[in-house]
Amino acid sequence: MHSVRSTASRWGEPIVLGPNQPLERPYRGGAGIARLRNTPQPSLFSPEDFVGSTTEIYAGGGIGLTMLADGTTLREAVERDPIAFLGADHVKRYGSSIELLVKLLHTAERLFVHFHPDAEFSRAHLHRDRGKTEAWVIVDTEGDGYAHLGFSRDVSEAEVERWVTGQDVPDMLGAMNRVALAAGDTLFVPARLPHSIGPGITLVELQEPVDVSVLLEFADFGLTQAEALFDLAPGTALSGLDRRGWAAEQLSALVADAPGDDTAVAPLFGRQADGLFRADRYRPRGTVELEAGFSILVVLDGTGTLSYEGGSLALTRGSTVLVPFAVGRSELSGDVEVIRCRPPLAR
Ligand SMILES: [Zn+2]
Repeated sequence: MHSVRSTASRWGEPIVLGPNQPLERPYRGGAGIARLRNTPQPSLFSPEDFVGSTTEIYAGGGIGLTMLADGTTLREAVERDPIAFLGADHVKRYGSSIELLVKLLHTAERLFVHFHPDAEFSRAHLHRDRGKTEAWVIVDTEGDGYAHLGFSRDVSEAEVERWVTGQDVPDMLGAMNRVALAAGDTLFVPARLPHSIGPGITLVELQEPVDVSVLLEFADFGLTQAEALFDLAPGTALSGLDRRGWAAEQLSALVADAPGDDTAVAPLFGRQADGLFRADRYRPRGTVELEAGFSILVVLDGTGTLSYEGGSLALTRGSTVLVPFAVGRSELSGDVEVIRCRPPLAR
């Protein structure tokens, strides 16, 4: 027999999330996540932690899904009680999809050059109904942090196909922009834009909830061209790529420095993330109020308290917490730095 409980009481508490790191991703990393969370690094190939995830890796098998303490997946729990998790406005607009994937990510090596297709490409070639735009909050860099982002000049179809099929990585990287990254910086990466995260970077990533990547670089990562390109012909796979040159002033719209230290609440990523996801950086010093709403909190530094009707939760560096809508309004206090990740505004 199922017990009968009211919606509000069923998910009226924040849910503390432990590590959820797939063990065999195709690139090395994870030490930065272990440092942030103060947990062991599960394997040399566990560079990603899926936080409050209802999204599987592309290969499926449930890998990536967040498991709750009672043994159900977060996905099942949300489907059973979407209004408690997401609120009525969200459900009216988006159904029971949480519309968000949050990851912690740490690179032990430069990540392969790749791009994420847009929705049109996903529908046409990948049996998925959406593409993936993502955005990063840099937590930590080891040495000079950088990423490659977009091409620095227009690149022809023939040229990029030659680089990919011949795995001419130096020429490919030579035609890309290199962007310096430091802790606190944010970066917005639209679907279709090629990118590669440099080594030694730990970041919080917000993205559309689907795992689709076309890899322009694969041989050095032990992958085949077929695996890298979804078994598509190169011309087809690369038709989803933004081959335009991005000038410095265009790039500067994607990259932002850390908000000032004395800013209690700083919205991140700007208007370009409207309709995709929302993130705010909180440094309350005193106390700041959080309106009700599904959110995933990632604590980057310090210690603090999340207070809500009926209880409070201690937060410390590396904590990750899912706050269902049914928790209601809450308050964040303490000398703490928190990234609050939310789905797009439903109203
Ligand atoms: Zn990416």
